[in-house]
Amino acid sequence: MAEDKKLNTIWTGDFQEAILENCILSEVGLDSNKKSVLLHSCCGPCSTSVIERLSDDFNITVYFYNPNITDEREYRLRRDTQVEFIEKFNMATGKKVGFIEGPYDKMTFLDRSSGMEGEPEGGLRCTGCFELRLRKTGEEAKSLEFDYFATTLTVSPHKNYKIISAIGNNLGAELEIDYLDMDFKKKDGFKRSIELSKKYGLYRQNFCGCLFSER
Ligand code: SF4
Repeated sequence: MAEDKKLNTIWTGDFQEAILENCILSEVGLDSNKKSVLLHSCCGPCSTSVIERLSDDFNITVYFYNPNITDEREYRLRRDTQVEFIEKFNMATGKKVGFIEGPYDKMTFLDRSSGMEGEPEGGLRCTGCFELRLRKTGEEAKSLEFDYFATTLTVSPHKNYKIISAIGNNLGAELEIDYLDMDFKKKDGFKRSIELSKKYGLYRQNFCGCLFSER
């Protein structure tokens, strides 16, 4: 990353004012020997074991871009839970995981899903949903000059790793930024995410995110 963009925590959107006092806006504490990764996260609980696994080797900034969470109250709850985990994790470990909130443009998701409302979970609507979120993360990572972009989505046993991997690698080639291709559910990653969510007292939802999955 370029020197002037090496912020490890950037709070954006309407959340900014509420928690600005608690954020870290400098690169103090970042390990210059580590590569940087912009980690798309679908929610706090899924991010737990991924962040734990990557934080020894990477300077991580979480990118919360999830316009697929169509209920705004649920969106805010998941976003706040994400921040809650990062703050508690940083406090407990001395790490400096950062956070960026992407735009909450749920109409983009709904337009993208048009005609696929009745698709089963794991079908074509979900493939489009993965691509939408990964593309935005890759573009943001490229723009902010991160070394890699990645996603927590592969920690879920309900998400198809091969599809996500193909999307990530194709976008990496198109956008000219490295995609960190890892199946985070391996080595008991999902089980560990449940353990850590309990340990940190995190809200854990029981549906994927969009109104179609809620049904
Ligand atoms: S079920 Fe989940 S992955 Fe599929 S479209 Fe809805 S929010 Fe996206």
